[in-house]
Amino acid sequence: MKRTFKSINNISKVITIVIAFILFVAVFYLMNHVQDLLNSDVKINLTEVVTQNKDVITSKLKLELNSLQMVADQMSDNLRKEGNADEGTLDRLFLEYCEGNSNISGSMYISNDSGEAFFADGRTVNIYGRKYFRLAMDGVQNVSDRVVSRVTGNEIFVFSVPLTVNNKVVGTIQHFYTPEEMYSLCSISLFSSQGYMYIINGGGYILLSTQDRDYTNESDNLYRNLYAAGNQQQAAQIETDISINSAGFMETVRNGERIFSAYTPIEEIHDWYLISSVATSAVSSNATKVFKLFYFILSVVIILFGIIILNFLAYKKVQSAKLERIAFVDPVTQGNTYNKFVVDVADLLEKQPSKPFYILSFDIDNFKYVNNYYGFDFGDRVLYQIVQNMNSRLKDNEIIARISGDHFVVLLENGDKDRINNLLDKLVLEDGVMIYISAGLYPVTDRTQSINLMVDKASTAANAAKGIFHKQVEIYSEKFEQIIMQNEQLKRKIEQALLDDELVPFYQPKVDVNTSKLVGAEALARWVTKDGNLISPAEFIPVCEKTGLIVELDMVIFEKTLKFISKCIKEGTACVPISVNFSRLHLFDKKFINKLIQLIKRYKVPPGLIEVELTESIIFGNMNIIADFTSSLHKHGLLISMDDFGSGYSSLNMLKDIPIDVLKIDREFLKETSDNQRRNIIFSSIAQMANRLNIKVVVEGVENNENVELMKKCGCDIAQGYYFARPMNENEFQQIYKEGRV
Ligand code: C2E
Ligand code: CA
Ligand code: CA
Repeated sequence: MKRTFKSINNISKVITIVIAFILFVAVFYLMNHVQDLLNSDVKINLTEVVTQNKDVITSKLKLELNSLQMVADQMSDNLRKEGNADEGTLDRLFLEYCEGNSNISGSMYISNDSGEAFFADGRTVNIYGRKYFRLAMDGVQNVSDRVVSRVTGNEIFVFSVPLTVNNKVVGTIQHFYTPEEMYSLCSISLFSSQGYMYIINGGGYILLSTQDRDYTNESDNLYRNLYAAGNQQQAAQIETDISINSAGFMETVRNGERIFSAYTPIEEIHDWYLISSVATSAVSSNATKVFKLFYFILSVVIILFGIIILNFLAYKKVQSAKLERIAFVDPVTQGNTYNKFVVDVADLLEKQPSKPFYILSFDIDNFKYVNNYYGFDFGDRVLYQIVQNMNSRLKDNEIIARISGDHFVVLLENGDKDRINNLLDKLVLEDGVMIYISAGLYPVTDRTQSINLMVDKASTAANAAKGIFHKQVEIYSEKFEQIIMQNEQLKRKIEQALLDDELVPFYQPKVDVNTSKLVGAEALARWVTKDGNLISPAEFIPVCEKTGLIVELDMVIFEKTLKFISKCIKEGTACVPISVNFSRLHLFDKKFINKLIQLIKRYKVPPGLIEVELTESIIFGNMNIIADFTSSLHKHGLLISMDDFGSGYSSLNMLKDIPIDVLKIDREFLKETSDNQRRNIIFSSIAQMANRLNIKVVVEGVENNENVELMKKCGCDIAQGYYFARPMNENEFQQIYKEGRV
C-alpha cells in the first residue's frame, strides 16, 4: 500500500513536470510565432523603407544628372551654333559658360571625344580610360563608382552626361562629388537610429554607407564581409539577386546579432544597389521587453503551478499517510493492525520461502475483568504495554499485531516453546498486574493457505490452552478443531445444566489427623446428569474457565453451600467452616464481595463459616488487588484459604503481605520424589512458618498412613484426602457434619 501511494506520488510529479514542460514549449512556440509575425512586419517595413529610399535616391541622382544634362544641352546648342566641336572651341565655350554661370563650381569639367578633359581653372586631365566617360560617350548618363581623382588624389563620385551635336556624341560633361557631398545628396533616411544603409555596386563594393566608417574593421566589400561573418548563404543569395537585378530580403548574423536587410537595385543608376539593414533587437526592442515580461509571467505561472501541484502532492501524501495510519497503525497499541500483519507476513513468507515461521496467537483470559476492575483506560494501557514489551524482544523479521480486543498475533522465526513461554511470562506489566495468557502456536507448514487460516489455527490452539492450568502455549494440531467443537457443545450443555440445576456441590471433609474430628469441608462442584451420571469437574471446569461460565458456576455452588449450612444450622448442627472454590476471574469483579455478602446475609450464615478458596496462581502479580480483596473479605468476617500452595507460583514471601487464614498444601507435595528428605524439610518449614504466622495448614491429597505420619512429624494437623473421606453428596456429608467426625 505504501508503495502504491509512493508510485502515485511519483507519477504525479512526472506528470507535473511534463505539463510544465509542454506548457513551456507551447508558449515558446507561440512566442516564436509572434516573433515571426513581428519579423515579417519588420521585413515589410524594411522593404518599404528601402524602396522609398531608392526612389528618393534615384530621383535625387536623376535630378543631378538632368541638371548636368541641361548644362550639356546648352553647351551642345552653342557648339551647334559654332558649327565646330574641336578641342579649342569646346574649351572656349566651356570657359564662357563657366564665366556666365558663376554658380558652376570647380567641380565640373568637360571632355572631348578623345578624353581630354579640362576644368574652368585650366587644369587638364585625361579621362579616356574612365568607365563613366565611356558610358557617357555611348550616350548613357551615369554616376561613377567611387574613383580616385587624378587631380586631387581624393575619392570622388563622378556624374557624367554626353555632349551631343547633331545626334553625335562629341564629348562629355562631368560633375564630381566628394563622398560627403554624395552622402548629403542622397540624404538617405534611416529606418531607425539603429538601422543603416549601404549603396554597393555589382561587385559588392560599398560606395556609400550611413555607417560610421570606423565602425568595424570590416573590408569595403559587402560580400566579403558577409562571408567573414559566416553568412555564406546570404552572400551567395544577394550576389545572385544582384546579378539578375532583383530586389530581395535576407537575414544575417553579425557579432551574434540578428540583422534584417532589404536590398533593391537603383535601376536608373547603372550597377548600384541600395541595402537597408536593421538589427532585430532595434526594431523589436519593445517586443523584446514584452517577451521578457511574458516569459517572466510564464515562469511565475509555472513556478506557482509547480508549487500548487507540489503542495497538493504533499497534502495527498499526508492524507495517504493518515489513511495508511488508520489502516495500519492500531490506535490503542500504536503497533500494527491485523491488516498490516497480513500484508507484512504475506511479504515475508514470499521473500523467504524456505525459512520456517510460526504464528503465535494469544489473548488475555482475564482482560474483561482487568477492564472492569481498573477501567478501560487502564485496559488500553495494558494492551499498549503488551505490544511495546513484546516488540522490544522480538527479532527483526518477527511481527506482533493486535487482531481485536485482547487478541494478539505474532509471527515468529523461532518457535521454541521455552522462548515463547519466556516471551509470554515477561508480559507482567509495569503496574504489577498479572494477566493470564492463553497462547496457541501454528508452525507454518503449508504456505498456500491464507494467512487468516493460519491465524485461525493458532487461535484454535490458543483456545485449547485456555482453562488448562499452568499451560500457556498449545501447539496446533488437527484434533483441536474437534476439541473446540466439542467444547462449544459442552459449553451449551453446561449452560443448560446450570438452568436445569444439575450442578451441585459435593463436600469433602477436612479432618484433624490427631483426633479424627471434622474441622471443615470443601465444596467441590459435581455435575449430576438427569440419568444419574456424575461428571467430574476436571471435565467441565476448564470449559467453564475458558468461557467465563465459571463465574456463574462458582456462585451456584456457593449459594447451594450456604443453603446447606443454613439448613444444618436450623437443624442444630454445630457447623464447622466449609470452603468454596472461586475462580481467579472473580478477583477483578468489583461487585464480587458485595454479591457474596448479600447471599450470606440472605441465608443468615455466619461469615466465619465460609472459607473463600483462592488458587495460589491468582496471587502472582496482583499483590495490590489481592491485598484489597482479602482485607475486604476479612472485614466481612470471611475466611481466606490459599489453595494449591506449592503447585506453581509459590512465594513464601507473599504470606507476610497477604493475611490469609488457611494454607492448602497442594497434593503434588505428598507424592514420592527422589529426595523425600529434602521435601520433608520444605514441608515442615512451611508448616512451622504458617504456625508462627497463625495460618492454619491443610494438607491436600492425603491418601495413606505415611502421609498422615509425615503430617504429624511436621506438625500439620489438618488433612483433606481420600484416606479420610472422598468428596460426597449433601446427604452423605450431612451425616458426618452432624456427628462432627469421619
Ligand atoms: P481443588 O480445589 O484442589 O480440589 C481438590 C481436588 O482434589 C478435588 O478434585 C478432590 O476430589 C481431589 N482430592 C481430594 N482428596 C484427594 C486425594 O486424596 N487424592 C487425590 N488424587 N485427589 C484428591 P475435584 O473435586 O475433581 O476438583 C478438581 C478441581 O476442580 C478442584 O481442585 C478445583 O480447583 C476445581 N473445582 C471443583 N469445584 C469447583 C468450584 O465449585 N469452583 C471452582 N472454581 N473450581 C472448582
Ligand atoms: Ca480447592
Ligand atoms: Ca487444591
